[in-house]
Amino acid sequence: MDKRFFEKWNYPAPPESYLIEKANPEIIREIQNHGLRRLVRHCWENVPFYRSRWEKVGLHPEDIRGIEDIGKLPIVTKAELEKDLKDNPPFGTFQGSLPACRIQSSTGTTGMPKPFFQSKRDWDVIGNLWARRLNTQGITAGDPVQVSFTYALFIPGFTSTEGAMKLGAMVIPTGSGAVTNTERQVTLARDWGAKFLLMTPSFALYFADVAEKMGYDLKKDFQIKSLIHVGEPLPPTMRQRIEERWGCLSFDNWGSVETGAPTFECEHRNGLHIFEDAYYFEVIDPETGKSLPDGEEGILTVTTLFKELSPLVRYSIGDYTSIIPEPCSCGRSYRRMTNVRARIDDMVKVRGSAVYPMSAEQVVRKYKELGSEYRLVVDTINNQDVIKLQVEVMAESVSEELKEKIYNDLIVVLGIKTEVELLPFGTLAQEASAGGRIKFKRLLDLRNK
Ligand SMILES: [Zn+2]
Repeated sequence: MDKRFFEKWNYPAPPESYLIEKANPEIIREIQNHGLRRLVRHCWENVPFYRSRWEKVGLHPEDIRGIEDIGKLPIVTKAELEKDLKDNPPFGTFQGSLPACRIQSSTGTTGMPKPFFQSKRDWDVIGNLWARRLNTQGITAGDPVQVSFTYALFIPGFTSTEGAMKLGAMVIPTGSGAVTNTERQVTLARDWGAKFLLMTPSFALYFADVAEKMGYDLKKDFQIKSLIHVGEPLPPTMRQRIEERWGCLSFDNWGSVETGAPTFECEHRNGLHIFEDAYYFEVIDPETGKSLPDGEEGILTVTTLFKELSPLVRYSIGDYTSIIPEPCSCGRSYRRMTNVRARIDDMVKVRGSAVYPMSAEQVVRKYKELGSEYRLVVDTINNQDVIKLQVEVMAESVSEELKEKIYNDLIVVLGIKTEVELLPFGTLAQEASAGGRIKFKRLLDLRNK
């Protein structure tokens, strides 16, 4: 293996990255060992948040010789970062002391919005990782790529654009439906011949709804080769619906503002490969706090080996997942994780039952009469929790029989009686764009308000 990958912070874009993507797992482990030692030393010197925590438990950088010692480092939770922000406003002590070239922030769908600093090198590396993702998912030089992520504090609009440009693709930066309205985006995608659409899964379905309402045939009037997603979970039923409607492949990527661009689906689309030269992923048993073996489900904990500013060292992100132990038939040696099943923070208690709003997705996607937008609304009426599903309908009228089917399906997936409210097409979408559509909120909790 090329010595360059050890001597400096080098996480290249394609084609140079192919060397690492298919490297022997021992070489990847060596890059990780080197990356972790460097990261721990860097945090000790430049990031007070980590140094103070490590000093408290009597840890010194010399104690961490490589990945085998990572369990000695304390796990960091979202709550700890939020406390640090409150105690040390406005940026906390976890950003680090080097100059930043920009700030990106979490959207605050759960908890408070958290700022994350980016150094020039961080930014460049995340762009390279995006280039690796997009290249694997079919993008090459000259391809017209329409980016419909919000260009704002939310990170993927900018970083996916950097990645596509590194591949020599031609970016059409429309931004989300709140910036360039969806009708205009449909027209641009058609007239300018976009081949790839980068958007959240829910927007891909809404985009399809709008294009069809405008009288277009999704398969004949567009030249889309693939849809590429990030920012929201992509359950199998949703992917199936997207692919049936668009007549092309849909690719998932999992990431967040905190982490950058850590995972991607390869051409086989059977789990999310982890960029293991740049990240170290662990799955933690929520009961014991110990790292679980591959194949067992627990809470994902991420270490960003490359990050200079706002680095993460064993950050518990709150998503349930597991690592897939078998190698992938694509030949990449990066391990894979399963698609995220549930986000612990999204869980709500309704009449004593734990409800995961994402579970309603499979019911909504089952019926062609229903539109893409839905949400669960929880409220208190006469001192009792009530929950209802609001969902848009495509058809002019919907039978009572269908409503009853939906009602019965919801009891099965949510485990609780849920009222069904059918809304005219566009109602929820309008509300989402008024709010600046970054991620569509699937839960509206009106209790105690
Ligand atoms: Zn693969």
